[in-house]
Amino acid sequence: MPGPFVADDRTLISPPTILWCLGVLLASTPALAWEHTSVVWAPDQMPISVHVADDGVPYHPDRCAQSGSCCEDSLPAGYCYEATLRGFEAWEDAQCTEWEINVLGAFDSSTFTIPQDHPNPEDGVNLVTFNGDVQASEPGTLAVTYFSTQGQQAFVLDGEPYTRHISADIVFSDDVEFATQADIENGQCDGAFSFESTMTHEIGHFMGMGHSCDDEAEGHPPCTDPTLANATMFWAIPPCDQEAVTINDDDIAGITALYGPSASFSCSHQVDEDLVVGVVPFTLNCVVVSNFLDEIASVEWSFGDGGTSTELAAEHEYTEAGTYTIRMSVEGEREACGPDGWLNDVERVGYVRACDVPAAVFELEQVDALSYQTRNDSDVSVYGCISDIQWDVFAGDDTSGERIGDPIKAWEPILEFPEAGTYTVVMSLGGIAGTGGAKVTLEVGDRAASGCRTVPTTGGMLAVGLLALATRRRRR
Ligand SMILES: [Zn+2]
Repeated sequence: MPGPFVADDRTLISPPTILWCLGVLLASTPALAWEHTSVVWAPDQMPISVHVADDGVPYHPDRCAQSGSCCEDSLPAGYCYEATLRGFEAWEDAQCTEWEINVLGAFDSSTFTIPQDHPNPEDGVNLVTFNGDVQASEPGTLAVTYFSTQGQQAFVLDGEPYTRHISADIVFSDDVEFATQADIENGQCDGAFSFESTMTHEIGHFMGMGHSCDDEAEGHPPCTDPTLANATMFWAIPPCDQEAVTINDDDIAGITALYGPSASFSCSHQVDEDLVVGVVPFTLNCVVVSNFLDEIASVEWSFGDGGTSTELAAEHEYTEAGTYTIRMSVEGEREACGPDGWLNDVERVGYVRACDVPAAVFELEQVDALSYQTRNDSDVSVYGCISDIQWDVFAGDDTSGERIGDPIKAWEPILEFPEAGTYTVVMSLGGIAGTGGAKVTLEVGDRAASGCRTVPTTGGMLAVGLLALATRRRRR
């Protein structure tokens, strides 16, 4: 995109809830290709009424032109209202979505007073206002969308809770030269910014959309995907922009996720929203969850180990330990969504933790006559399957001998033997699938010994420290 870029806005949430919102944003971003603000309109809030302070009652009376218009100074009276209508219409390109907007004129000032600094997003009145003082948020800001929530849940999307708006206000800056769409198309833009592109973008925020990409200079990742870079919800626009007036595929995907038919899934063995844990072999049962089940024409599951299913209620057996990603792809039929219907893909990366009995393997490496460094070669490839470890040392060539010292809970401790002699060293690994152990018997202190290596035992389902050792092999 050609420069110079100007930060178009900052979407602000009112102070009482700002920390909460940031927390949710951090937690929710990885799940989706697009970004949401996590604050949305719930179905029972439709139609959403929006007042446009153009003609009539001004947002900021002393900033309104002499004509009585409170549209931006650089724009003709009435244009702001018309452009607001077109901005909402632009989002109707997301045909598969269901939301209702009621765009109204300015409200009656005898019943409602607009504060001087900026509108109050907690007053229950949704405003679009102009000639506002938004420069305080960041230099170069074209407009700001203020919104607020009390944290009441609107719906859950792909496991993430979205909360409902109290109300939202869009405020256009007083310090920006805006151009009409006609002037831009006629080449008479003269470095001004597209009012309608800005409007479409702010309406996206109003509906719950975040930025497709954000300012790299503020530490956000580079925007390498052209679909994201060309989205209306990209964080900035160049002067005289003509593109962001209409929404693109990323914008459509993002708003369709919020207001379109959608599906998710839930599975057995779930320990939290993002994780199921099982001991192999185990059968996982997963089911499509949707308010639109009757529209679903097909579903495809991929369980991450090559297994698939096309059932609404799917069943899959995991036989190998591993961390697996589940993908579910649903196709729905709805006339308003066009001949291809609607599509919903849900992917949960690393969702399945399939654990096997820990395979314990270790080596001992002599440091000096009576001390040995342990080398733990146990399989830790599946994160989270091992939760405990213990080393025990016994006198003699079996675990029936006298216990030497206290059990040691460390991954690779140095073992100190009290004197020369025969010892048996046991390492136990505990986890959800049970306990695995390995042991080695060695002669300590007679001469410089070579390393000892164990092989894992199998199948133990015992508590840590109580071992059933299937393999007893001594190596030097
Ligand atoms: Zn923005």
